[in-house]
Amino acid sequence: MHVEMISWPWMDEEALCGTAAAMCTGSREPGRSLERAMESGHESVLEHAVYTYKVEGVSRALLAQMTRHRLASFSVKSQRYIDMGDMPVVVPGSIQDNPDLMDEYCDLMEDIKGFYRRAVEAGIPKEDARYVTPQAAQTGFVVTMNARELRHFFRLRCCERAQWEIRELAWEMLRLARAASPALFEDAGPGCEGCREERCPKKEE
Ligand SMILES: Cc1cc2nc3c(=O)[nH]c(=O)nc-3n(C[C@H](O)[C@H](O)[C@H](O)COP(=O)(O)OP(=O)(O)OC[C@H]3O[C@@H](n4cnc5c(N)ncnc54)[C@H](O)[C@@H]3O)c2cc1C
Repeated sequence: MHVEMISWPWMDEEALCGTAAAMCTGSREPGRSLERAMESGHESVLEHAVYTYKVEGVSRALLAQMTRHRLASFSVKSQRYIDMGDMPVVVPGSIQDNPDLMDEYCDLMEDIKGFYRRAVEAGIPKEDARYVTPQAAQTGFVVTMNARELRHFFRLRCCERAQWEIRELAWEMLRLARAASPALFEDAGPGCEGCREERCPKKEE
């Protein structure tokens, strides 16, 4: 998995969202207005800060989960145009840990790629041949979210209840968001009250 933040607010996020918060109350203190807005749940001021990530080397299974987030904008690698004859795949750790199943998994993927190549050679359009590709097939996308939606995404997807692959992605996106805009993301993370741990304390109880 490779994750980059490729765009973030050019203006200091505290000034940007703080100006929006100060507009609402007639305050002259953007920083303090932003703090108050975030404390009180007046989260729409966070919608002015927008972040774009480039994500590669993740599975189509992850993509299906990711695109459920309706307030995000996506541009996804198209299997209609890209040749899937040599598609790289994601292999879950649980399968890698089982040598017999791992061999079978690799054989199955090779069979699928073989069928795909034969179908394309036989004149089947790529957009039809792709129907045989698995959820494991790697994909890539560019995703844009505003800070309010990102915080919501982190609440759901950094949580131990989310699947490992999207959780790994969400934590990496959160790390990059905190580096870019600490004032907006320092307290972001999984949703359990007060929880900002990578491992779920509830699960370890
Ligand atoms: C652990 C986990 C397990 C899951 N399991 C399943 C599953 O088994 N099956 C399944 O189908 N999905 C599953 N999902 C997906 C889940 O139901 C949501 O579709 C997904 O997490 C997107 O969340 P969202 O709707 O809050 O986010 P977004 O789409 O990003 O929306 C953000 C917020 O905007 C508001 N909003 C957006 N659109 C509307 C609307 N039309 N009406 C009202 N309010 C709206 C809501 O407040 C929403 O929380 C799972 C998610 C998680 C985290």
